[in-house]
Amino acid sequence: MDFSIPEDLRAMVETVRRFVKQDLEPISQQVEDEDHIPEDVVQTMRELGLFGLAIPAEFGGLEVGTLGECLVYEELSKTNACFRTRIGTNNGIGSQGIVIDGTPEQKESYLPKLASGEWIACFALTEPEAGSDAANIQTTAVRQGDHWVLNGRKHFITNGNISDLATVFAVTDKQKRAKGGITAFLVEKGSPGFSVGTIERKMGMRGSHTCELIMDDCQIPLENVVGGEAMVGQGFKTAMKTLDKGRLTMGASAVGSAQKLLELSLEYAQQRVQFGKPIAEFQSIQNMLADMATQIYAGRQMLYHAAWLRDQKGTAVVKEAAMVKLFCTGMANRVADMAVQIHGGMGYMKDFPVERFYRDLRLTRIYEGTDEIQRLVIARELLKEG
Ligand SMILES: Cc1cc2nc3c(=O)[nH]c(=O)nc-3n(C[C@H](O)[C@H](O)[C@H](O)COP(=O)(O)OP(=O)(O)OC[C@H]3O[C@@H](n4cnc5c(N)ncnc54)[C@H](O)[C@@H]3O)c2cc1C
Repeated sequence: MDFSIPEDLRAMVETVRRFVKQDLEPISQQVEDEDHIPEDVVQTMRELGLFGLAIPAEFGGLEVGTLGECLVYEELSKTNACFRTRIGTNNGIGSQGIVIDGTPEQKESYLPKLASGEWIACFALTEPEAGSDAANIQTTAVRQGDHWVLNGRKHFITNGNISDLATVFAVTDKQKRAKGGITAFLVEKGSPGFSVGTIERKMGMRGSHTCELIMDDCQIPLENVVGGEAMVGQGFKTAMKTLDKGRLTMGASAVGSAQKLLELSLEYAQQRVQFGKPIAEFQSIQNMLADMATQIYAGRQMLYHAAWLRDQKGTAVVKEAAMVKLFCTGMANRVADMAVQIHGGMGYMKDFPVERFYRDLRLTRIYEGTDEIQRLVIARELLKEG
C-alpha cells in the first residue's frame, strides 16, 4: 500500500489552498450576502484552469484524474460552497456526457470552451415528476426533417441560468424509456424555443443558482445528439455514467467542508470561556471534537481509496462511489451539527460561517442522488455480486 499523494497533485492542492485563503475566503460573506460571485474571481478560476480539471488535456483541460479532482474539491469546499459549484458543472455533470460518449466533433467543438471556462455547461435531467425516478421524465424529442424538436420542462438545474450549453435528456421512445428510449441532446443557449424559467429560492448555496429550463418546440440540429445517431435511445446510460463520478467529487466536497468545520470548532472551543475555563476543557466538547476528527478520517480514507480505484480501473466504481457519497455527506452533516453545538448560540448566527456550512451541506444528501438512492445502488451491486 502506498498512501502518498503524487508530487504534482500536492503542488496543485497548494495552489488551490492559496487561492482559497487569499481570494475566496475574504469575499465568502460578501458572496453570501449578494448571492453573486464577482467576475474577477471567476476570471482567476479560469486562469488557474479550474474549469477544466476533468477535461482531457488534448481539449485544453488539466486532466488531473479522479483523485486530483477530489483533492481540489476538498480544498475549495473549505470556503463558501458556491465557488465549487461554479466550476463543478463544467468538470462534472455538464461536460462528462461529452467526455464519455460524445462524438469526436462534439468533443472538438465544446470541450475546449468548457475547459477554459469561456462557456458554462449544465445537466438537465430532473423534472417536476421525475427526480429519483429519473426514467419517468416527460420531456419529449421528435425528429422532424433535419432537426429534433424538444418539448418539456426541467427543474432544479444548477447553473442553468448562466449556461451556454445544456445536456438535456428527453424521451424518444415512450415504450422503451430507460431501456433504449431516452436520448441526450446538446442544447445551446439561444436555440429556438429554449428558455430559462423560474430561478428557485433555496435554503442555502447562495451564489449558486438553480432554475427551470423550458423547451417549447425547441429545435436542435440532428448532430447534437450526444454520441451522434448511433446513440439515439442511449441517453439514460450516459446520464448514469455521468453521475457516477459526481458521487466521488460530492464526497470530496463533504470531507473538505467537514475538515473546515473541525478547524473552526477547535479554534472556538479553545477561546470561548465558560465557568472560568475554555470550553475545550469540558469532556463533552472533547468528545464531539474527537468524533468529528474520527469520522472525517474515515470518510477521507474511503474517498481517496475509491478515487484511486477509479483512476486505476479507468471506469466507474459504482458501489464504492455510492458508498462514498452516502457516508461522506452524512458524516459532514453530523459534523456540521456538532460544530453548531460547540459554537452554542453563535453557531446559529449568520456572523459565523458554521451556520452557512450547516445549511449548504444539507443539500449534499439530496442532489445527484439522495441517501436512499445511494443505498439502493449499493444493495443492487451487492446482490449482483451474489
Ligand atoms: C439545489 C439543487 C440542485 C440540483 N441540481 C440539479 C442539476 O443540475 N441537474 C439535475 O438534473 N437535477 C438537479 N437537482 C435535482 C436532484 O438531483 C433531485 O432533487 C434529487 O435527485 C431528488 O429528486 P426529488 O427532489 O424529485 O425528490 P424525490 O425523488 O421526490 O424524493 C423524495 C424522497 O423520497 C425518497 N425516495 C424516492 N424514491 C425512493 C425509492 N425508490 N426508495 C426509497 N426512497 C425513495 C427520496 O430519497 C427522498 O427522500 C438539484 C436539486 C437541488 C435541490
